[in-house]
Amino acid sequence: MTDATVAVPAWASRLRDIADFPKPGILFKDIMPLLAHGEDFRSAITAMADRWRGQQLDAIVGIESRGFILGAAMALELGVGFVPVRKPGKLPGKVLREEYTLEYRSDCIEVHADALPAGARVAIIDDVLATGGTLGAALSLVRRLGVEVVGAGVLVELDGLGGRARWEADLPLHTELVF
Ligand code: AMP
Repeated sequence: MTDATVAVPAWASRLRDIADFPKPGILFKDIMPLLAHGEDFRSAITAMADRWRGQQLDAIVGIESRGFILGAAMALELGVGFVPVRKPGKLPGKVLREEYTLEYRSDCIEVHADALPAGARVAIIDDVLATGGTLGAALSLVRRLGVEVVGAGVLVELDGLGGRARWEADLPLHTELVF
């Protein structure tokens, strides 16, 4: 299922491109100016949260680190829990780990093994979809908890990097802006 939004929301002007970060050749989509503007930040969070209203979610799973900011705000907006998927060595309890390859490095992610009860309904949230490696790894990781992943959402989708093609075709992947 695909549903990339066509209309450009007003808050989109708060995003900025930073060339050659974190390494040459990468055009970094910086969401910090959006976060710093209260009204536009709220509009973006409301748009992302609206995708999941009435879906009986139990929790939002946010990917470190900007997925924490967006995901935690969405969880409050929706009145559901928040579960962090973190970079290795950050979580204090027993973890499950998943390795993956990013646009600009290899990495792995972890989640607490007891983060959610089996059967919990979750949506996975991150700021940017590029190659789809991170979101795909998060999907595999949290499914190992026995939870039901209802779908995923990102603020920005970078078209042409194959991210959407790597995502499961019959699982919703909500995008607010496509570049
Ligand atoms: P990917 O796994 O290739 O889809 O990359 C997505 C992850 O890397 C997200 O957590 C993003 O925060 C980060 N990321 C990758 N490319 C960019 C980019 N061009 N601008 C900002 N963040 C990016």
